[in-house]
Amino acid sequence: MAYIDPHVHMTSRTTDDYQAMQRAGVVAVIEPAFWMGQPRTEVGTFKDYYSHLIGFERFRASQFGIRHYCTIGLNSKEANNEALAEEVMELLPLFIYKEGVVGVGEIGYDDQTAAEDKYYRLQLELAREAGLPVQIHTPHRDKKQGTIRSMEVALEHGLAPHMVIVDHNNEETVEQVLERGFWAAFTIYPHTKMGNERMTEIVRQYGPERIMVNSAADWGISDPLAVPKTAQLMLERGISAEAVHLVTYQNALAAFGQSGQMPESDWLQAPAVDQSQRYAGSSILRGGQVPQSDPSSALIR
Ligand SMILES: [Zn+2]
Repeated sequence: MAYIDPHVHMTSRTTDDYQAMQRAGVVAVIEPAFWMGQPRTEVGTFKDYYSHLIGFERFRASQFGIRHYCTIGLNSKEANNEALAEEVMELLPLFIYKEGVVGVGEIGYDDQTAAEDKYYRLQLELAREAGLPVQIHTPHRDKKQGTIRSMEVALEHGLAPHMVIVDHNNEETVEQVLERGFWAAFTIYPHTKMGNERMTEIVRQYGPERIMVNSAADWGISDPLAVPKTAQLMLERGISAEAVHLVTYQNALAAFGQSGQMPESDWLQAPAVDQSQRYAGSSILRGGQVPQSDPSSALIR
């Protein structure tokens, strides 16, 4: 089976993760712009981060046989530094039209402050003008209300539900999201957000339409193999192969493919991996290493 992980922060992950994901069947990933764990203090660090997402990280993924896409945005935590947020808003139009950018994200509410609301709305406008999907991060606190509010504000700004992927759902929010016609994404996180046994039961109860699974793996304890592992568990627990394909591949492709930046041919007709390639002079190889054209090879030289 082939998988798409539509929310994973590869910048924070290692080459081992890329190799393991490729071996497990992950063919494409989407990396939303997000919070790096400590506050940024200069607009230039956003500029370099966005450039990295559309540049070197895409290249790095390709060297392991994985196609890399991203969503670009100002995340909710950072919206609270208004002086900086103003400067970042000026940067965003320079990045959202770039190759491989499949949406505006991850944006939305964290503490649901006035500043978060302001920059969420401005970015919804940006997405609508660009005709791009929106990837919404829903808050951990006051989740149900925050999720409903995120959807209502998106509608207010003229976004069609089919252009909005509402992320980090759980049993409390899924019904509202599906009823309103939005995409419902689920993050499989060890211990907190959602285990994959619960995820299996959600698909059993609500069916596979407009539901997608992601790892949201980042710099914290998380599992970059969450999508293939969840697919395996679902199959073991009697969910049909067609349903599993929808929630671990096809629905993500349909939702983010609306950007026009993510054709399936990107990976179905991908050129063979050539690890001798360089990106602006940088290679993933280290002194004297032999390039592996077959990433599934067990050889260590
Ligand atoms: Zn994230």
